[in-house]
Amino acid sequence: MSDSGEQHHKRMAHKKAVVDSAIAKADQDRGLLLVLTGNGKGKSSSAFGMVARTLGYGLKVGVAQFLKNRRDTGEENFLGKQPNVQWHVLGDGFTWDTQNRDADIATAQRGWAVARGLLSDASLHLVVLDELTYLLKYGYLDEQQVCADLAARPAMQHVVITGRAAPQCLLDMADTVSEIQDIRHAFRAGVRAQPGIDL
Ligand code: ATP
Ligand code: MG
Repeated sequence: MSDSGEQHHKRMAHKKAVVDSAIAKADQDRGLLLVLTGNGKGKSSSAFGMVARTLGYGLKVGVAQFLKNRRDTGEENFLGKQPNVQWHVLGDGFTWDTQNRDADIATAQRGWAVARGLLSDASLHLVVLDELTYLLKYGYLDEQQVCADLAARPAMQHVVITGRAAPQCLLDMADTVSEIQDIRHAFRAGVRAQPGIDL
């Protein structure tokens, strides 16, 4: 073996030992809270990827979509029809008009009541709260209440929350946080939302 080949072999052996030891130390199983935030594309689609993975094990999933301006999306058309999925669209009543703030708060609170139902159902292995962050950002839901309800969920239930500008209390209690950075998006080059990619 050449010198550089031997060096490479040593480096890889060291790396394998470090990775193996880290894997051996991760010996817990519990329900995780994941927060996917940031301005880049990929938050909701990542959450739906985890829905597909979970369904692949024959496990049950609840999805609550808090902001949605259309119902004919690929995710709802496909995942929403799977037998192990409960799919709730909870944002149809939002106006984003400050003159209707009271109505928006009422819609948000009705939506959260449904989400609480999912968070108290131990048969659901995964719950996705898609675009929840906006309801907290606009003060439509009480952060402390939401965090308390999340903390009180079944011990083995995983929850994924998506949306820009996640509030600090969610970031603090999450087990996994990813902030997706916006480097470029085709929309700004004039490409409309593409089926399968964007919706
Ligand atoms: P996706 O559902 O594609 O994973 P997302 O959940 O990360 O996107 P949202 O903020 O929920 O992002 O936006 C939803 C829609 O807006 C999607 O069609 C997405 O492609 C588009 N979008 C996301 N980020 C950007 C961006 N930085 N600029 C323009 N459009 C965006
Ligand atoms: Mg999204």
